[in-house]
Amino acid sequence: MGQAAEDVPVIYLHEIKRQYMQGEVPLTILNGAKLALWAGQSVALVAPSGSGKSTLLHIAGLLETPDDGEVYVSGAPTSQLADVERTQIRRTDIGFVYQSHRLLPEFTALENVMLPQMIRGLRRSETIKRSTEILSYLGLGERIRHRPTELSGGEQQRVAIARAVANAPRVLLADEPTGNLDPNTADHVFHALMQLVKATNVAMLIATHNMELAGRMDRRVSLVNGEVVELE
Ligand code: ADP
Ligand code: MG
Repeated sequence: MGQAAEDVPVIYLHEIKRQYMQGEVPLTILNGAKLALWAGQSVALVAPSGSGKSTLLHIAGLLETPDDGEVYVSGAPTSQLADVERTQIRRTDIGFVYQSHRLLPEFTALENVMLPQMIRGLRRSETIKRSTEILSYLGLGERIRHRPTELSGGEQQRVAIARAVANAPRVLLADEPTGNLDPNTADHVFHALMQLVKATNVAMLIATHNMELAGRMDRRVSLVNGEVVELE
């Protein structure tokens, strides 16, 4: 990677607007939101329920299209891209972790992590090697043959994180990833996320209600009247 990659945010949200219709009444959720996410930096998004955190994450992850504004990925605008191109960027550059693990129940931890790499076209032997490494790195080396129901909540969430980073994305977006976990387990999962930022230089945005965890991240932002504001 050259100099240029470091000078440009991995994700830049510019003047994002998003409305939902509530019956006949338009409900403005995001109203000119701006946010830059940088390689190697962890950002906490702390805001009340219903303020638009998930909406912002979905837009940053190209899962949802804003009504106005632009999402730049590594400096390139995405609003005019065809669906197939957006999907390609999602596969290679963006990792997403949800509050519930959303692992495929029929598959083992290893297979769940292998799948996105196989879809991307990597050789099976290569995906086994990479997936085993990532799972071991996250402390799941002894659990790779377990199915989701044979894992604890924290373990399931760490498999979901392994799956999200399997294709070495530039950005990891996590929507209340520790929301369903007890404090100790949440701490463990949070630690795994922080470890990945340092080890892989990924940019990370985590929506969370946990102020203690947010306090340990590089930067904190909130949503006020549809705009992103820096905290502190
Ligand atoms: P948060 O993640 O901060 O709790 P969300 O982004 O999920 O907030 O939602 C923000 C607001 O937008 C909420 O009031 C929610 O009801 C509304 N909303 C979210 N998605 C939709 C949708 N698909 N249709 C209509 N309203 C929605
Ligand atoms: Mg939400």
